[in-house]
Amino acid sequence: MAPTGRCLNVAARASVGGSRNKGITMRIALLLSLAAASALAQVERQHGHHEHGRITLQLAQADGVLEVRLEAPGSDLVGFEHVPAGPAQQAAIDAALAILRDAPAWLEFTPADACTWEGSEAVAPGYGSSDGAGLDRADEDARHRHDHHDAHGEFHAVLRGSCRTGPAALRVDLHRHFPGVQRVRVDFINGNHQGQANLQGGKGVVDLQP
Ligand SMILES: [Zn+2]
Repeated sequence: MAPTGRCLNVAARASVGGSRNKGITMRIALLLSLAAASALAQVERQHGHHEHGRITLQLAQADGVLEVRLEAPGSDLVGFEHVPAGPAQQAAIDAALAILRDAPAWLEFTPADACTWEGSEAVAPGYGSSDGAGLDRADEDARHRHDHHDAHGEFHAVLRGSCRTGPAALRVDLHRHFPGVQRVRVDFINGNHQGQANLQGGKGVVDLQP
């Protein structure tokens, strides 16, 4: 699958930060650039620019600090993107958020004890629900667009942790919880190594080593 411009942008920002040997300052810059790219993507999505059938997952691990970000169109996880039509649809959104916050339910490292999860957040902007605290201003703005007739609900999650060693691989299994997932685009920075992968059907193993 050909990489898209936005995801290439993540890699480009990462390499602009400097050579690979500038140590912790540059590594922090990598993490920040990933976060900035993600924030930019969120702003873009506010205008309905997400791509149905395509979930993005970004992993950054540097000096033992781990961050994973997921962005998914609502249609991929719960099958609808409009304001919930009743308690059942609201429950579906809440259940999806609970799963996304529970990293071990869909992410697994090799070796299994390479990293420890320490916190998570997940929100569903664009649905017009008041669920969850906003990850940032963009999400908060999205919650106020509840009367927008052209809703595009989506899911954003941020998972944080620490790693005692650089993980060798990441197993992703969103399919188990969300059978409708078609494709997960993974971009990662693991120490000094970066790469990408496309997981068809929402599950698979990403080799995180050079
Ligand atoms: Zn949509």
